[in-house]
Amino acid sequence: MKSKSKILILGISAIVILVSVQVFVIKDIWFDKEVIFDLKYKLLSQEAMEQFRRMRQADGFESALNLLNDYAKDVMTKEIQKVKDDETLAQLKKEIINDVEKILKELEELSPYLKGYFNRQGFESDFTTKIELNFLQLIDFEKRFDVYTRPDIIPGPPATAANDIKELKSRILVNRFFREDNYYRISFDFYIDFSGKQKIVLHEMSAYLLMSLLSIVIVMVIFFITFHNLMEERRLSNLKTDFINNMTHEIKTPLSTITVAGKTLEMEKISSDPSKIHEIARLIGKQSVHLNQLINLIFEISMWERSQFQLDRKEVDIRELMADIVESFKTANNNNINIIEDYRFDGAQTRIDVVYFTTMINNLLTNAVKYSNKEPLVKINGYTDRENIVISVTDNGIGISKQDQKHIFDKFYRVNYGNIHKIKGLGLGLYYVKRIAEAHGGTVTVSSKLGEGSCFTVTIPK
Ligand code: ADP
Repeated sequence: MKSKSKILILGISAIVILVSVQVFVIKDIWFDKEVIFDLKYKLLSQEAMEQFRRMRQADGFESALNLLNDYAKDVMTKEIQKVKDDETLAQLKKEIINDVEKILKELEELSPYLKGYFNRQGFESDFTTKIELNFLQLIDFEKRFDVYTRPDIIPGPPATAANDIKELKSRILVNRFFREDNYYRISFDFYIDFSGKQKIVLHEMSAYLLMSLLSIVIVMVIFFITFHNLMEERRLSNLKTDFINNMTHEIKTPLSTITVAGKTLEMEKISSDPSKIHEIARLIGKQSVHLNQLINLIFEISMWERSQFQLDRKEVDIRELMADIVESFKTANNNNINIIEDYRFDGAQTRIDVVYFTTMINNLLTNAVKYSNKEPLVKINGYTDRENIVISVTDNGIGISKQDQKHIFDKFYRVNYGNIHKIKGLGLGLYYVKRIAEAHGGTVTVSSKLGEGSCFTVTIPK
């Protein structure tokens, strides 16, 4: 149990490490892909701007900057005169910034050109644009009015709000403009921002993601299959140990009886009494038969393990055969057992191996009696349907839990009642039943309730 949890912990830690490595690698690739994306579009937009300049002898802000000159002249000659105090000055600055940004944005001709250029090249063109002032001075011949100077002239605003950080990450600086005219001096940055960038990168990453997910799933499946097999092997090895213990016990009993009987025979008092000798001889005979059966059983198991065993099928009347088997079983148990038979075979004939079939029914009957804690009452039902012969053996015994029902047909499996030697057995009876039923092309099933009894049903094709 301890090593089981150790293996589990080790395996799960390995999987966790694998997942973390994958996450780390994917994050890295994701970051690289974003950088490549930005670089690609930066280069593309610079190419596009170059072309724009060559073709139009302009950089896309001509109309906006011309209008700005008139606007600045207007401010310098009229608006500025109205300023009385600091408050109105601040207000005026704010209005100017708004107006200038609006003029630049509305009259710029670069973004439609970029969109067209990207489209023609077969690239993504779903972007928004952003213009950000670096500084703005309004001037006339003798005055200079500083409207705005960005605290840091390095592109991008100071990263304060979460929004800004996000924006900073996703936008691409296309160009920094500087222009001086009669009434103003301005510098501003022109950005493009792809809202669908994450989606595009995700799409590009889908192969990596799928592969890493697949590798994780495969490793997990392999681990759990290996773990399951390991546990199964361990269970089988435990079953084998139990089997050897039981077998030793089973063999020791008749052997010690024979030894004691032999010693008794040596005693003078006994050797002179023919009736005693006869009785002991019978006892030795009975125990040797039992020993022989056990040894045959082990021999048969190893035979069955090697290959599919050969059936010697003969045509029989199933009703007659069943009646014979039950009769012999009753006799062997001194007619002490109450067995109710109910057959509806309609005279069906079937081809089966009589010896194996008898062993199978005998094993079921033996268990029905063996695993009973009160006066055993066994019911045998038999009938034929269109294709099959169905025989069920029902008892009023101790029953089998749902968990154990899954394993009782396994080789060497015995239900653990605490003391394994309380009811003798080797855990092979039902294993035989199953193998014999299957060798005939049939099945065996169980339904049982603890404390109420069990019903084993064998179905064999006609
Ligand atoms: P064995 O009887 O030698 O232990 P079997 O393969 O015949 O081996 O049975 C396997 C286990 O199934 C038994 O240990 C017993 O606990 C349980 N079992 C089998 N038949 C019955 C039954 N009729 N009622 C209750 N338990 C049963």
